[in-house]
Amino acid sequence: MASAIGWPEVHAEALDVFVRYLRIDTSNPPGNEAEAARFLGGPLEAEGIACEYIETQPGREVLVARLTGDGSKRPLMLCNHTDVVPVEPRYWDMPAFEGLVRDGRVYGRGAVDMKGMGVMQLMAFVLAKRQALPLKRDLVFCAVPDEEALGGWGMKWLCEHRPDVVDVEFELNEGGSGSGEFQGRAARIFSVATNEKQVCWMRLTAVGTPGHGSYPHPVEQNSAVRLARAVQRLAEWERPLVVTPQMRHYVAELHEAGYLPPIEDSEAFEEAVRRSPALLACFMNTLNVTTLDSGIRPNVIPAKSEATIDCRLLPGQSRDEWREQVLAVIDDPQVEVTFHELLDDDEPAEVPWDTELYRTIEAVLKEAMEDAVVVPSLTAGGTDNRFLRLRGIPAYGFAPCILSPEERAGFHGNNEFLTIENLNLGCELTYEIVRRMCT
Ligand SMILES: [Zn+2]
Repeated sequence: MASAIGWPEVHAEALDVFVRYLRIDTSNPPGNEAEAARFLGGPLEAEGIACEYIETQPGREVLVARLTGDGSKRPLMLCNHTDVVPVEPRYWDMPAFEGLVRDGRVYGRGAVDMKGMGVMQLMAFVLAKRQALPLKRDLVFCAVPDEEALGGWGMKWLCEHRPDVVDVEFELNEGGSGSGEFQGRAARIFSVATNEKQVCWMRLTAVGTPGHGSYPHPVEQNSAVRLARAVQRLAEWERPLVVTPQMRHYVAELHEAGYLPPIEDSEAFEEAVRRSPALLACFMNTLNVTTLDSGIRPNVIPAKSEATIDCRLLPGQSRDEWREQVLAVIDDPQVEVTFHELLDDDEPAEVPWDTELYRTIEAVLKEAMEDAVVVPSLTAGGTDNRFLRLRGIPAYGFAPCILSPEERAGFHGNNEFLTIENLNLGCELTYEIVRRMCT
């Protein structure tokens, strides 16, 4: 029989690891995640756990460790990325790579995205070993590089080159978390992401007739004017809400808990959704103009002008149909709309939420917090989960802690931090989810 866990000691250990982890600068590019992989491997090796370091590129490594189960169930993977997005130090009020602890908060690039969650998973994994849990399935700890640059040298590479590592029944990674408020009301809502929106970057190209800037020139033939008009039409395009089957379930759960009007009360429902950008993103394809490029000289009327738009599509929406809609709104044969060359071909795949892992997460949260509401959700941005979902693996985006709006602003933002309270909560809940899934 395993002894009870001394949580105060585990919390102190987690904080120590977290602070030192944040001191490793893994800004991507270039990443340098090998140092992070070796760092995370340290506490595992100290417990006698074998670690494999897989180089994907010089200086970049995946760390994989495994606790072997009796084989009666298929593996559970805990996965996190070790790279972070770069920092603009002048906008920070404190150093970004020192792991500064102040007023119960741990500051540093990666605190919420996602070194903090990496430490929660690491501690849960170490505890599973220390407690000698009688595992029914393998428990896999995996830390990957390059998530912030589309995963070509991280999870995507791993899926292509080491399918044995990702041959798991379930996976837990970033993409959802708990929230301490809902539209200004105190709440405990935990979003477990089972899908993410599809990136659909597009280029608008307007072609006109060049000419001398000193002469009267037909406005219709000025490519900059045509492009500006197209962009304006897109900006003014009012689109109705789209409720996908998954979000229908989400709304039903939040309605039952008293946080949202029912879908049938369409006016109130729409008003509530449009009040919050994060919620609205789950009910419509988004479209933002992100670059504009036109003209070569002050005295030359541009023959060609270009813009890019960043669109994110809801599940079930095709890129081709979306392009047709965009063309119809622009309504100008002189403006061409093409897909951006960086897009990958794969559409994100939805995985079911009615699974053992989802039910376990829900049960653990509801036992820990009576008022917890657990909902399947959609990630607006991209995560490594998409590579596993394409393989049919229920890969969930879920950090088991309660992020404040201020903490959420840290994702790719300045003064990024995670509270010690959340770190502790995350370690305990991750361990409990793992324990129930694996024993
Ligand atoms: Zn991330």
